[in-house]
Amino acid sequence: MSGTNLDNPRQEIEEAIASGNLSKLLRMNGMLHGHFCPFSAMGVKAAVCAVRELGVRSTGMEETVAIVETNNCFSDGVQLVTGCSFGNNALIYRDFGKTAFTLARRNGDAVRISVRADRVMEERSPETMQLFERVVVERSGSESDKKRLSELWTELSFRVLELPDDEVFNIKKITIDVPAYARIFGSVKCSVCGESIMEPRARVKDGKAICIPCSGQEYYQLAGDGISIKQEEPDGKKSA
Ligand SMILES: [Zn+2]
Ligand SMILES: [Zn+2]
Repeated sequence: MSGTNLDNPRQEIEEAIASGNLSKLLRMNGMLHGHFCPFSAMGVKAAVCAVRELGVRSTGMEETVAIVETNNCFSDGVQLVTGCSFGNNALIYRDFGKTAFTLARRNGDAVRISVRADRVMEERSPETMQLFERVVVERSGSESDKKRLSELWTELSFRVLELPDDEVFNIKKITIDVPAYARIFGSVKCSVCGESIMEPRARVKDGKAICIPCSGQEYYQLAGDGISIKQEEPDGKKSA
């Protein structure tokens, strides 16, 4: 993007937050999220609400921390607007399956916002609900059904941005214990595959460092279903 301010790459986002330009933020979130949907819209809207409430900004250095309670579409809106992302360690994931998040300053001042999903879903038209059932739930439906659903879904996503905050959110000011800054670790080399490993994730076999997949030990995986424990099988096949 040619217009990016190299001193503050989030300038455009910050300006949109300050002026309350939610539709611009949702459009930007589409670049990250890939489509427009009511829950990514709720993530954008909730995050704007929390950022303004706390008066924080992010340079991606964990000065603000977001704790998300779901890995659905909502969390992408939160990441874009708060600047707390999976990769900059300012995003904390709690596998609760709730469309909610907490934004916190380092001193523990925080806001938790949960979404009244049923209120948001009331905005769906009967046509949207029928198409959703056919295309998304049953994974059937024609190309024209998919196209029509995408149009209706996009229209709905921008429309729910306009709903009053107190109708769609439960907003609570709280104080939390903010997790410590992410530590900086050294690296070691796996004695089997030769790839570099963050030191605390290295295992030891026959007195040598070995990575988790080469060791066959259990590990955590975050996937669509949430966090689960997995293990590589000795022949290199992955467990289900
Ligand atoms: Zn989505
Ligand atoms: Zn290895």
